[in-house]
Amino acid sequence: MPEDIPEALRRPTKKTRQPGFQPTLLGWGTLGITLVALGFGLSWRSRPQIQQPNPVPTPVTAASPKAPATLLGHLPYTEAPANKLQPIARYDNIRLRVGAAQQFQAMVAAAQAEGINLVPISGFRSIADQKYLFFDVKAERGQVATQRAQTSAPPGHSEHHTGYAVDIGDGTQPETHLQSNFDTTPAFNWLQANAARFSFELSFPKNNPQGVSYEPWHWRFVGDQDSLETFYKAKSLNNK
Ligand SMILES: [Zn+2]
Repeated sequence: MPEDIPEALRRPTKKTRQPGFQPTLLGWGTLGITLVALGFGLSWRSRPQIQQPNPVPTPVTAASPKAPATLLGHLPYTEAPANKLQPIARYDNIRLRVGAAQQFQAMVAAAQAEGINLVPISGFRSIADQKYLFFDVKAERGQVATQRAQTSAPPGHSEHHTGYAVDIGDGTQPETHLQSNFDTTPAFNWLQANAARFSFELSFPKNNPQGVSYEPWHWRFVGDQDSLETFYKAKSLNNK
């Protein structure tokens, strides 16, 4: 009997296959169902529209912002104008933006009160300073571009241009200045626990998304609108 099934199936198919019959019936059926569904759909839809005279506008899809180009992992920054900078207390040659300088001094005083000796090593740097550092000093050290970029940003791409970044050392351990083992000093431990109270944060912690070498000495001020936008607008545009 199972052998008969294919034949039995084939035979009526052949016989009833009068041109246009099945498709027409199917077509009318489909049309009917569609009309009923459409009518139901319309009446169902019209209700919430009456109840909500001010429907929520369709959200506009945000155009994807163009990410600024990085150079060897560093973001571009503009140079702070000279009249926005001031020396950090007795360090005439180390300047920061006025607000950052004031907070830095307050932070140094607070640390000192707890027996911690924070010293500024480097603050604002012009693009010309950075050119000298990146091209001349690093060439003397025999470093190729990628090696240079691990510890120094190319000119036009250093946070030091903004006047908000400062390299900090421990006055009692100068041998750790600009070294990764600065993170073993009392100064670093104090900064980890207290710098945020003065709106300073570490720019390049371990495994930072920018891929810049760990720099426990390099801190930036993010305590006002301009500094926040300077660092976080650049950053958010770049993170995928
Ligand atoms: Zn630095």
